[in-house]
Amino acid sequence: MYDLTQFRKDLSCFDIVLTEQMEEQFLQYYELLVEWNGFMNLTAITDYDEVMKKHFVDSLSLVKAYDKIRREQICVIDIGTGAGFPGIPLKIAFPQIKLTLLDSLQKRIKFLGEVAEKLGLQEIELIHGRAEDFAKPSMKRGQYDLCVSRAVANLSTLSELCLPYVKEGGFFVSYKSEKILEEAEAAKNAIQILGGEIAEQNAFTLPDSDIYRNLFVIHKVKVTPKKYPRKAGLPAKEPLK
Ligand code: SAM
Repeated sequence: MYDLTQFRKDLSCFDIVLTEQMEEQFLQYYELLVEWNGFMNLTAITDYDEVMKKHFVDSLSLVKAYDKIRREQICVIDIGTGAGFPGIPLKIAFPQIKLTLLDSLQKRIKFLGEVAEKLGLQEIELIHGRAEDFAKPSMKRGQYDLCVSRAVANLSTLSELCLPYVKEGGFFVSYKSEKILEEAEAAKNAIQILGGEIAEQNAFTLPDSDIYRNLFVIHKVKVTPKKYPRKAGLPAKEPLK
């Protein structure tokens, strides 16, 4: 039996109340994560309390920066989703969203296929590939109201990988930690070149913890120039300045 007391308490700080079915889905997800982690590298964290806080609660903390996800049927893409963070927790808690999960590692996409099937998640698309390769106009460019990304790259690189996917008027939210000031300064120009505008930063600690989170919100105010993203590897190797 899993104790959900702390998880419920944490989520109540974000005004999130899960249904019984959603709680069951989170537990199934936890079990699949631990099971598959036994034979592939998905996460360094497997302890129940830690997964609930550092993966699930953390992923859902997005509502502090982007409230619309609670009720609107928006299109969301998670770039470099890995084992599904933050995308899968968002989809469980807000099932009306249309979600795309993209990652360059095939085995992680396979895991996510299993998660989607076992949890019965609908309107979820899985893409195996590099973010640089799917942002073409004939593919996924400019199709999303919201792009999210956690622990993938520095803000300049990430902006080049993520902003092309966002519709004009949409948002890109990057899950960052404390070292954001320097990183934000270094990415300022790149964000502008790519059609973005820094909208806000939302810094807080996760409930009942000293785990620091900074949600960095970028508003897409203009179309991203066609030449971005550059070819695979370049955004990380030579971040725009
Ligand atoms: N977002 C997850 C999380 O917070 O737990 C995973 C983070 S993991 C450190 C980074 C993930 O980004 C890896 O699964 C990696 O395969 C993926 N990744 C890195 N660069 C990428 C790119 N250019 N396109 C697609 N996926 C990428």
